[in-house]
Amino acid sequence: MSKRVAIVGAGTAGLHLALYLQREGLDSTIFTDKRIEDYPNVRLLNTVAHHAVTVQREKALGIDHWPNDGYFGHYYFVGIPGNPLEFYGDLGTGPSRAVDYRIYLPTLMQDYLDRGGKIEYRDVDLSNVSELSEEYDLVVIGTGKGGLGTLFARDEQHSPYASPQRQLCVGLFKGIAPQQTRAVTFCISPGAGEMIEIPTVTFSGDASALVFENHPGSDLEQLTHARYEDDPRAFLDLVLDKLRTHYPITARRINEDEFDLANSPLDLLQGAVTPGVRNGHVKLDNGKTALLLGDAHATVDPVLGQGGNMASYAGHIAGQEIVAAEAFDERFFSRVDANRAPRVLGATNWTNFMLNALTTLPESFIQFLGAVSLDRGLADKFTDNFNFPEAQWELFSNPDAAAPWIAEHSNGVVVDPQAAVVGAPA
Ligand SMILES: Cc1cc2nc3c(=O)[nH]c(=O)nc-3n(C[C@H](O)[C@H](O)[C@H](O)COP(=O)(O)OP(=O)(O)OC[C@H]3O[C@@H](n4cnc5c(N)ncnc54)[C@H](O)[C@@H]3O)c2cc1C
Repeated sequence: MSKRVAIVGAGTAGLHLALYLQREGLDSTIFTDKRIEDYPNVRLLNTVAHHAVTVQREKALGIDHWPNDGYFGHYYFVGIPGNPLEFYGDLGTGPSRAVDYRIYLPTLMQDYLDRGGKIEYRDVDLSNVSELSEEYDLVVIGTGKGGLGTLFARDEQHSPYASPQRQLCVGLFKGIAPQQTRAVTFCISPGAGEMIEIPTVTFSGDASALVFENHPGSDLEQLTHARYEDDPRAFLDLVLDKLRTHYPITARRINEDEFDLANSPLDLLQGAVTPGVRNGHVKLDNGKTALLLGDAHATVDPVLGQGGNMASYAGHIAGQEIVAAEAFDERFFSRVDANRAPRVLGATNWTNFMLNALTTLPESFIQFLGAVSLDRGLADKFTDNFNFPEAQWELFSNPDAAAPWIAEHSNGVVVDPQAAVVGAPA
């Protein structure tokens, strides 16, 4: 059976699939709108942490170019007034890693070319997708969260939000001393937002990504609308002020004389993401079917760092199914959808749940965080499960799951959840 695959988009979804097919000896062509040489001059695309499960896939694909740049856990800060919680958990499965995608994606594109892959540069529209479906045996749409994917119907069951739940301000910064252990710092400012600090490989070496997830209408939302270009000093002072007020665990490590964007004004990204899931495969106007992959299929808010990991996972599943397929028929598309669903929809559901829980902070959620803050076994498990969002979703979606989860993973500290709320941080 002929298996010539056209992949639209050279993001993580498209590239991981293309490199997988290439390894298995199958023919693919990538159609994408950005050239390798464009990437150093574009605005920051995102700030993506790949968890160990994704790093393992990178190793298997021979694209593990940053083996010593991982980080090992999460520090947490929950700014409950009068009773802030601070704790740490390990990423037991292995280090996670963040590399600026303006470095990561073109590196993988070059790998694919060096191994004989074909990349055609064009801005693909829906009529081009139909044309490609006449020419190729399978068309995969991996064009990310905007554009082509949004032309298809939403899967309403998995798309509870019609608008962004956070106003984002995301930058690569210098002048922030690392934590004792190289790790992410995940902060919650009740009623205002979350901030995730990520050690990141950038054009100038190590820097800190600061991902401000601002609740619409909170004072932090100013960060999304302030313009660095208009007055860099005023912008940096605003960021410092918000960090001191909301995220002291990061503010106290800043050298204010050195604090600035890491390399250039392009190291800043402001905007918002509308979460949403589309049907995994779509009928084109010529009757052919195309597969949606990555963000084009399922877009989540970045608060839990899942989208790129989902895209890589889905690329891997699609690759396996393409290799195994006897025909690209309805059964093939259903198998891809079914096999990626636990991870992709688990991450989607967990992220959508947490967006709401982090906004409304129900008592049960605070008690859960309090329990985790007091017991290193729980903190380690909760942290490592950023690798396994389907397990996190099982924990949070099932009201009966927390008690056995605590019993199974506790280090033995007897946790009184009420005491955890009012108790001192571990
Ligand atoms: C601020 C921020 C922080 C994030 N942090 C994390 C994180 O920590 N961990 C994590 O896992 N995820 C994170 N994400 C999500 C992650 O960036 C995405 O989930 C991931 O990049 C999706 O990969 P993709 O291949 O589906 O799409 P993309 O990476 O968006 O790639 C799309 C590709 O398609 C091309 N393209 C688009 N339109 C066309 C067209 N019409 N014709 C041809 N080519 C086209 C683009 O140039 C690109 O090559 C974050 C996102 C943001 C915004």
